[in-house]
Amino acid sequence: MTVTLGDPVVEELRGILGHDHVLTGKADRLNRTRVPAPFPVHRWAERMPDLVVLPSSTEEVAEVLRLAHAHRIPVVPRDGGTGLTDGAVPLRGGIVVDVKRINQIKEIDLENRTCTVGTGINALKLNEVLSRHGLLYPDDPASYPCSLVGGRIGTSGWSLIGSRYGHTRDLVLSFDHVLPTGRVIHVGDGIGRKITKSSSGYQLKHLFMGHQGTLGIATEATLKLFPKPEAEFSPFWAFDDYDTAYRTVGQLARAGVATFAGAVLFDEWKVAYLRRDDEAYIPQPASVKALVCAALYGYEDEVRAGGGRLMRIARSMGARYLGDEISQGDWAARHDRYATPLHGRTRSGQVVPMSWHCEDAAINYTNLPAVRLAWHEIADRLRRASDVFDDWGMFAYTNGATGADYLTEIDIGIWEQRLDDAAWAAWVAAKRDLAAVALAHGGSISACHGSCREGEVDLVPEELGGGFDVMLAIKRAIDPHNIMNPGKYLLDRAYSDAYPDPDGAP
Ligand SMILES: Cc1cc2nc3c(=O)[nH]c(=O)nc-3n(C[C@H](O)[C@H](O)[C@H](O)COP(=O)(O)OP(=O)(O)OC[C@H]3O[C@@H](n4cnc5c(N)ncnc54)[C@H](O)[C@@H]3O)c2cc1C
Repeated sequence: MTVTLGDPVVEELRGILGHDHVLTGKADRLNRTRVPAPFPVHRWAERMPDLVVLPSSTEEVAEVLRLAHAHRIPVVPRDGGTGLTDGAVPLRGGIVVDVKRINQIKEIDLENRTCTVGTGINALKLNEVLSRHGLLYPDDPASYPCSLVGGRIGTSGWSLIGSRYGHTRDLVLSFDHVLPTGRVIHVGDGIGRKITKSSSGYQLKHLFMGHQGTLGIATEATLKLFPKPEAEFSPFWAFDDYDTAYRTVGQLARAGVATFAGAVLFDEWKVAYLRRDDEAYIPQPASVKALVCAALYGYEDEVRAGGGRLMRIARSMGARYLGDEISQGDWAARHDRYATPLHGRTRSGQVVPMSWHCEDAAINYTNLPAVRLAWHEIADRLRRASDVFDDWGMFAYTNGATGADYLTEIDIGIWEQRLDDAAWAAWVAAKRDLAAVALAHGGSISACHGSCREGEVDLVPEELGGGFDVMLAIKRAIDPHNIMNPGKYLLDRAYSDAYPDPDGAP
């Protein structure tokens, strides 16, 4: 579709949404061609939507999708645009549905401890209101100030304090979901908006989470709330070597302390990078090779007791406690850690503007050391091949209180203004290699961001096995004309000759 003013589709959309909420200008469209992940600047033109719409209600979204379905126009949902795998980036033009205007707080239910919101709101804004009631919505990614509830649903994100409160999939009880045909359904655990456990039928809530906008658009969600924690304790420990830090983080996670919200393990590449380039980081002596930061939340008396136990565990492992100032400062900085540097270094040490690629995998605790070495080897190869890449080190974040699996991320700086086809191809190959390491160690390619980007997406069928065929069948059944975010997750394969005619689908 190519937009020309007066185009009947544009006029129809204006009839649905009002003139001001259908944006056809170049700047409005350019603003929605990218996400913070490294961007192939030399191929910018391939990612332009034809137009952007700003609906304000579920019904308006439904009308837009009915129209797009009738005209077979691609539709890409976009919330905060902070996703790191290009999920919200249009690959085939069409309409970007930007849901930021659907951001109302519809209800705060103090008795059942839930709230119902438009999916264009974010957790920071929501918590400003909830805190007046002594409540908290604890979905807490590092992108807390800028990712929105709908995008969290679209990616099935990872909350850094998930060991205490659960992740997005646990915290979103139910939501209104507009199917690609424009039909509106409500999915959740049971028909009620606020039920947390039911056993009726298929678990559709999970089907409509983490699909990266390929199965429709979530518009209004009901969320689980918790008492606002009275106390927070974020101990931070230094280690002379990675192995001791690794063993300590495992002990902390397995200790079963109820107020334990999560722990982060920084490896020596990460410490070196923070020491070198992150203004928010307080430099540590060269003997510090690895760091562990934990966070505990709850009532003051239980946090004090739980914190005491974790301190004893860490001390028995030989950890050096770094003091309250750095603990509080650094844990708080998790929300802006990546925005701070925005630069990396060439091999000669020259500072240059860089954007950030974060490869995220879910890896079992026992496989972390092996994955770490294999990943740094790949990053090192990349860095040797071209001076547009910089190794920013690795984090591993605990998940549940058992300490079984971790969000494992390697951060690589990319000087995107200098990307050309050769550097881009090297990057795509490295992504494929990083994902292959995760699979070879029994992990998942992605713990939270999804895997829509070139390179890693190639391995999704391998990870899912027969499940990928089921995914294709579901996509075909729900989106017979492939209008929802086409080109993502290799789902175009659902429409190849191997499958029956789309018009025959339900
Ligand atoms: C600095 C930084 C730190 C980050 N830290 C974390 C972290 O700790 N944990 C984590 O999980 N992620 C993290 N991320 C990644 C990102 O914030 C998450 O993926 C987030 O869930 C995306 O939300 P968004 O509102 O920006 O969604 P978008 O980027 O707008 O969209 C993400 C995907 O969801 C789809 N989508 C958007 N809205 C809807 C909707 N209403 N219904 C259905 N599908 C929709 C889009 O099409 C796209 O495929 C980080 C990103 C940055 C930039």
